[in-house]
Amino acid sequence: MRMEELTWEEFEKIKAKVSAVLLPVGSVEAHGRHLPLGTDVFAPLEISKRVEKKLKEKGIEILIAPPIWYGHSFVLNVYPGTINVKADSLRRYVRDVLREFAEESFSKIVILNGHGGNVYPLIEASEEVAESHDVEIILINWWIDFREEILKICSSQGHAGEDETSVMLAIAPELVRTEKAKGEKRSSPVRVIRRDIGLELFPNGVNDDPQGATKEKGERILEVVSERIATLLEGLL
Ligand SMILES: [Zn+2]
Repeated sequence: MRMEELTWEEFEKIKAKVSAVLLPVGSVEAHGRHLPLGTDVFAPLEISKRVEKKLKEKGIEILIAPPIWYGHSFVLNVYPGTINVKADSLRRYVRDVLREFAEESFSKIVILNGHGGNVYPLIEASEEVAESHDVEIILINWWIDFREEILKICSSQGHAGEDETSVMLAIAPELVRTEKAKGEKRSSPVRVIRRDIGLELFPNGVNDDPQGATKEKGERILEVVSERIATLLEGLL
């Protein structure tokens, strides 16, 4: 069930039936020359739909909230198309959204995050709402929390890399410019914060080698991650 497709009257009825609301959060951000700017929303949204279906088979209903598209993306802001929201603005915005869901009487809110720069603002927003409301917020950073499973499928993991490119090939192959999928792993032993650090750490908006990406790997990642999330939520909801 997608909240944006309901009327308020239907929403009112469904609210009483569902065990949780699931909020996908992502970013609008450069993902190499081969992946679309919306990659970090496309992935959690697809996982959300699969999780919803799996939970339904177990007799648990959830509501998928409209995603939060714009995220905090300082490092990749050196590339056109990255629409960076400051961490503090994102924190306050997400806090208000979470608070509204808590006041709509949802006692469990699942955040399914698709973007690294959002992690700290999401934790802070959740803590703030959990302090003031009787609500449990479950924050899932899918590519971090299920890294072990993903690395059984892909040889490496990284921004616009093998795992993310595979996932996009499974979700929307027509949006992947495969012939432009190039890159390499770059790292720094410490976090260097400088306006143009993205040019060094993410050349062309990539930080991994995406050449080994396939649709099959993407399908396996989506399947294992959504299965793991559904099992986890079955125990928590
Ligand atoms: Zn991404």
